Amino acid sequence: MKRYSAFAVAKEAFSYHQGWERAWRSPEPKQHYEVIIIGAGGHGLATAYYLAKNHGLTDVAVLEKGWLGGGNTGRNTTIIRSNYLQPASSEIFELSRSLYEDLSQKLNFNIMFSPRGVLMLAQTEHELRAWKRTSHANRLAAIESEMVGPERVKQLCPILNIDGPRYPVLGGLWQPRGGTARHDAVAWGYARAASDRGVDIIQQCEVTGIDREEGRVKGVQTTRGPITCSKLCIVVAGHSGVLAKMAGFRLPIESVPLQALVSEPIKPCLDIVVMANTVHGYMSQSDKGELVIGGGSDGYNAYTQRGSFHHAEETVRALCETFPIISRLKMLRQWGGIVDMTGDRSPIIGRAPVEGIFLNCGWGTGGFKSIPGSGWAMAAMVAKGEPDALAGPFSLDRFTEGRMIDESVAAAVAH
Ligand SMILES: Cc1cc2nc3c(=O)[nH]c(=O)nc-3n(C[C@H](O)[C@H](O)[C@H](O)COP(=O)(O)OP(=O)(O)OC[C@H]3O[C@@H](n4cnc5c(N)ncnc54)[C@H](O)[C@@H]3O)c2cc1C
Repeated sequence: MKRYSAFAVAKEAFSYHQGWERAWRSPEPKQHYEVIIIGAGGHGLATAYYLAKNHGLTDVAVLEKGWLGGGNTGRNTTIIRSNYLQPASSEIFELSRSLYEDLSQKLNFNIMFSPRGVLMLAQTEHELRAWKRTSHANRLAAIESEMVGPERVKQLCPILNIDGPRYPVLGGLWQPRGGTARHDAVAWGYARAASDRGVDIIQQCEVTGIDREEGRVKGVQTTRGPITCSKLCIVVAGHSGVLAKMAGFRLPIESVPLQALVSEPIKPCLDIVVMANTVHGYMSQSDKGELVIGGGSDGYNAYTQRGSFHHAEETVRALCETFPIISRLKMLRQWGGIVDMTGDRSPIIGRAPVEGIFLNCGWGTGGFKSIPGSGWAMAAMVAKGEPDALAGPFSLDRFTEGRMIDESVAAAVAH
């Protein structure tokens, strides 16, 4: 595939940009693949890319019922950080964050990674203690994060009201190399690079059934006909339970709507990401000038990509108190995704009860940041047939063995 470069852009300018090829191929599905990945979100596409790049496996198809990146990957608020509490989580999230650092160069696609820093406010004594504990755990895991006092918080984010009437800011957990990236570009970059290495990405191809024989996966039924495979990866976030049902087992996953909204564009006023868990809201500013805002997930299970109205109202109210200067802003648009929540708020990466099926789900409200690391770990597991040390702790049997990886503090508002 032709490389994107300043030289290529200049050269194309002379021919009215007529010479660019499509970013990825749109092949007809073959009858058989070594590996089928269901779901062309960030995790599915990253898995396909690392299968090809790290393990030389290219007889791979990614099947997507809609358009690639149209699920949560294209709907999230793009916060990237790795300051998690438990050792297993820190390892995979920090690998992911570090892979983001030079992902644009690796994929030859500008994913607009912006390590602008992520600040998680402490607005109660309890939260202050919890973040202190996390910062100590981060230091042990060699993750760069630090506790900062109210004055430093104000310095980092001058538009913040640190003397709020309900919840004054007592400090914050600051990760200077956390930040954001362009969500669509992450999906597009992985898709282009995977397609370039021979992976077939098949959009508008819904999986409607999973074929098994003697406890082993045989293939899938799709809206474009049956396809057989040796290995099958289910990477469909909020629809994981639906696909698991097709394969004849149940998952400890609940599907819940989570929403976000953006304001009209304004001049630059916020150059970090701020998360305020106590009042239930978080905010960053996009390159277009829009304030990107999110809150908590809905309190009931659903498959609507919308989210309840009262959450939008509560989130905006909380942020007006925290950032008084936004109180007269108009909101431009609102949308939702369906997040896949586990009981301990940690993902599932592991083998399914059916031989040949591999699972990657349960990233809940925080799986954008983990796309590179998750794809890396998933690809290694699928290639070798067994999870390695990175994925091992996240296996499905932790729910029967009671080996929970409790990251409940890291869910919902704290993406
Ligand atoms: C509003 C919101 C804000 C968020 N904010 C953040 C954040 O700031 N930071 C962060 O780290 N995370 C965030 N997240 C979470 C993050 O978006 C997800 O964890 C992550 O994108 C999941 O990626 P995925 O590839 O697993 O799933 P998805 O991107 O949802 O991809 C799954 C794909 O599977 C496809 N699919 C489903 N069923 C089938 C089928 N039967 N056949 C074929 N294809 C199928 C879907 O169409 C979809 O494209 C947020 C999520 C939401 C909704």
